[in-house]
Amino acid sequence: MTSTLTDAADLQLLGKEALLHEPPGGDPEKLTLVRAQGSLVWDDQGNEYLDCTAQAWSNNLGAGDPRVIEAAIAQTRELTHARPTFHTPALLELAALMVSIAPGQLNRVGFTLHGSMAVEMALKLALRNRPDAEHVAVLHDGYHGRSITTMAASWPHPQNAFGRLQPHFLRLPRPDLYRPRLGSTGEEDTERTLAVVRDILEKGTEGSVAALIYEPLQGNGGHNEFSPRWHQGIRELCDEFGMLLIIDEVQTGLGRTGKMWASEYYDLDPDILVFGKGVGGGFPLAGVLTKQEYAKFQAGDDQLTFGQFPISIAAGLAAVSAIIEDDLPARAAEHGHYATERLREMQTRHPLIGEVRSPGLMVSLELVRDHVTKEPATTEAHEVFVRAQRKGVIFGESRYASLGSLIKIKPPLDITRDQLSHALDVLDEVLTDVETDHGIGPR
Ligand code: PMP
Repeated sequence: MTSTLTDAADLQLLGKEALLHEPPGGDPEKLTLVRAQGSLVWDDQGNEYLDCTAQAWSNNLGAGDPRVIEAAIAQTRELTHARPTFHTPALLELAALMVSIAPGQLNRVGFTLHGSMAVEMALKLALRNRPDAEHVAVLHDGYHGRSITTMAASWPHPQNAFGRLQPHFLRLPRPDLYRPRLGSTGEEDTERTLAVVRDILEKGTEGSVAALIYEPLQGNGGHNEFSPRWHQGIRELCDEFGMLLIIDEVQTGLGRTGKMWASEYYDLDPDILVFGKGVGGGFPLAGVLTKQEYAKFQAGDDQLTFGQFPISIAAGLAAVSAIIEDDLPARAAEHGHYATERLREMQTRHPLIGEVRSPGLMVSLELVRDHVTKEPATTEAHEVFVRAQRKGVIFGESRYASLGSLIKIKPPLDITRDQLSHALDVLDEVLTDVETDHGIGPR
């Protein structure tokens, strides 16, 4: 369609109709953002918001960090495109830097632009290493991206109409520490689930599973934590059944959990680690770290036109350097401690709060209607999200009843204590309002 429209406001109105990703009739709560600085963002109406979802917007540093912006501008002036058959100086520096901060024995690194593509890179590596295997094991409620392959690897999702193209994922159960099955404890559920996983692997799939991929702490699938015993048991099963262990740290990496990697937090020993989000300081960047023995790519295995996009790489080099220089993992640990202490106090007053989860600044609240049945408070959680946004604080939310009803608090790691305290004050207020409206009495 050729347009004769020149007025920006008209174009924006028509654009809302034209955008493929808009739900029918639009989403009334969706903001049009025009600027971001640190932990603050502004919409096109001039409203200011405190951003407690930076992690979803893929930044562990606050928005507009001058070190990242300057590096990106300088790279833009010099060279904006180089095929992956060439290096740039920043690419070589970032490769060395990533290996220097990698957990365990991971000493080879590859880059791409999206977490989903990095997961695909990890799967390709696993398949190169296990040429006869035809399956990859994944966990229930895991989340690994939105390409067709990574959607198939993700949780069974009502919207996941695409998994049918990829039948080669072996979906394994996960333990549930908040809702353990059959009246058991979380530890008993963990032991039982490990036994079920062993059973599934023993039943004829030996040698046919190239790898097992999971998140050290499930993010999009409901902020589900695991016990140390689970991680240890899974490593043992990987060794026993010849599966590579792929840890997806797209969401948990680069300081978010209070350490540089959640793998350190939980003492994991991944064969392949996937990173993304925070690594680019707000620019698209992701990648994979692996052990030397598994670095078996052949020419052309992962050559994408923009795979090593120089601007993202330069921004990433500045962002990772800044995360180290500012010791953001320690900031995340301190802020996370403060936030969880306050939220646990709020939990004694707010019946809606079923559980407070962390670590670091990967914080969430599971909202429930009843502490015994633990029925997810879906409508209430959405109301908390909407009312907080109207009061100028943007939290993350999980809208899927099957995955629990969560309010997520994942601000930039360099948010100030005052800002974080203000966000929690607003959360306290809106929880009271929503509880009052739904006739949920104080504890
Ligand atoms: N893995 C995990 C654990 C994630 O949380 C995400 C993004 N939420 C992805 C992979 C996919 O990353 P991207 O959206 O950059 O493709």
